[in-house]
Amino acid sequence: MLRQFFLPWVLAFLEITLSSWMHALAITGVAKPMARYIFITGGVVSSLGKGLASAALGALLQARGYTVRLRKLDPYLNVDPGTMSPFEHGEVFVTDDGAETDLDLGHYERFTGVPARMTDSVSSGRIYSNVLERERRGDYLGKTIQVVPHVTNEIKDFINVGDDEVDFMLCEIGGTVGDIEGLPFFEAIRQFSHDKPRGQCIFMHLTLLPYLAASGELKTKPTQHSVKELQSIGIAPDILVCRSEQPIPEKEREKIALFCNVRKEAVVAAYDLNSIYEAPLAYHREGLDQAVLDAFGIAPAPKPNLARWNDVADRIHNTDGEVNVAIVGKYTQLEDAYKSIKEALIHGGMHNRVRVNVNWVDAELFDKGDATPHLQGYDAILVPGGFGERGTEGKIKAAQFAREHKVPYLGICLGMQMAVIEGARNVAGVADAGSEEFDHEAGKKRFEPVVYHLKEWVQGNAKVTRKADDNKGGTMRLGAYNAVLSEGSNVARVYGTPQIEERHRHRYEVDIKYRDALEKAGLKFSGMSPDGRLPEIVEWEDHPWFIGVQFHPELKSKPFDPHPLFKDFVRAAKENSRLV
Ligand code: GLN
Repeated sequence: MLRQFFLPWVLAFLEITLSSWMHALAITGVAKPMARYIFITGGVVSSLGKGLASAALGALLQARGYTVRLRKLDPYLNVDPGTMSPFEHGEVFVTDDGAETDLDLGHYERFTGVPARMTDSVSSGRIYSNVLERERRGDYLGKTIQVVPHVTNEIKDFINVGDDEVDFMLCEIGGTVGDIEGLPFFEAIRQFSHDKPRGQCIFMHLTLLPYLAASGELKTKPTQHSVKELQSIGIAPDILVCRSEQPIPEKEREKIALFCNVRKEAVVAAYDLNSIYEAPLAYHREGLDQAVLDAFGIAPAPKPNLARWNDVADRIHNTDGEVNVAIVGKYTQLEDAYKSIKEALIHGGMHNRVRVNVNWVDAELFDKGDATPHLQGYDAILVPGGFGERGTEGKIKAAQFAREHKVPYLGICLGMQMAVIEGARNVAGVADAGSEEFDHEAGKKRFEPVVYHLKEWVQGNAKVTRKADDNKGGTMRLGAYNAVLSEGSNVARVYGTPQIEERHRHRYEVDIKYRDALEKAGLKFSGMSPDGRLPEIVEWEDHPWFIGVQFHPELKSKPFDPHPLFKDFVRAAKENSRLV
């Protein structure tokens, strides 16, 4: 009796003491406090730029001295975007720890410089497959598995990872409110904000204010409906970011605030910009970061240091000339398929203070015909990564054109493999050189496999192996690996360091047994894996700038810290453009 009465009181007392003690420790810096959470959702239409708004907000919080991490929760059922067509979903962004993620993680990294991790991206597919795996293992002890609580708990666990590492955790929910697939995610973030202490989580919602030319008005109704939808699932937004092509009049701002139950200062305008890199400054002007700090009750707000973004804006606006770069690829209709490459080129341009015009050239146009009419006149040529045989003969011709005409060439992943095949065929005398990737029909060997299917490599101190018939999902050599650069090579000059670490995503590899023949022909293997077995970089020695890399340098480039290869590639393009 006595125990029943006293125990809850004693426990409650202990809990209060413990929590105030933890808080005191946090204030004195002994233990880190939990992150504050910002959930970013979208409504009305898709493609409003949620990813960009999240990334820009992350950058602004950093400018105020905070640490941040950004996460993406995608409602689609693919386990990861690795097997999704770039036509449908844009590029696959690879993290250092080898996750194949959504291209929004690329935005996050480009704006904050914080390397994304495997635990920063999740999809319904991944969540469900974890839940089902646990169900099969018997982890749920015979319970009936349901969306609430099992799926929502799995989502909440994901959101919570690394909670004590940063000041702010920004979680973007893919899709728009009301999508069927999205419901468990919205329910999970609603619960999550309840589980956390009051004031630890806020919700930011992006909407569209369409402009009706006939009446000369911005319409707020779709925004009101979208917020209603959000409220009907128990989420009240603290901040509304309104995309608009026209300035939002004060009267409309007040109306949105009143009808959507947010403060007027928390109705933030997002106008179209010339460059995405103006977004942090533009959002700051509109008061987004201030509204966020206000919503958390952080006062006085630390002053922002925007020097980095002012410099970026200056480099965008004050250029001296332009260069024309051709990207010879397969998915040229959809620019998002090569998002990071395009951005890295722009960063290279910013470094050299030139405008980079990116021209998309479809390699299939000259798979059989003459490449010259399609490629002449460009200051530089880039052949990006890719999968499958389509368009590869055209890419090989692009490498040949660049070699013969001394046009700066950057070959990335497949683009390097194509350059090696070209050199093997046309200079080193291996007439039928090709890649095993294109020789999949059993019994019909068309090519000498200068590029072969890689089934064994070293990661750290461990050996990784793959079978020829492994699943397509997640079986590549993925993530960060080191390479050692040859002294005196062009690439060693470009990097200015003898050892590098870059991100990979490939299944095939240049066969080292052709090294001697190719080097004799002039194609130097100037970067190798530390064990000396995997060619990482090749370059033509009697060419002003011809480099092929087996990895994806574009994934690590930032506007305020452009990648060395892209800096120097654009410099070479600039030099080439001034020669003619
Ligand atoms: N398809 C090639 C491979 O798997 C190249 C991959 C890529 O360009 N990312 O090796």
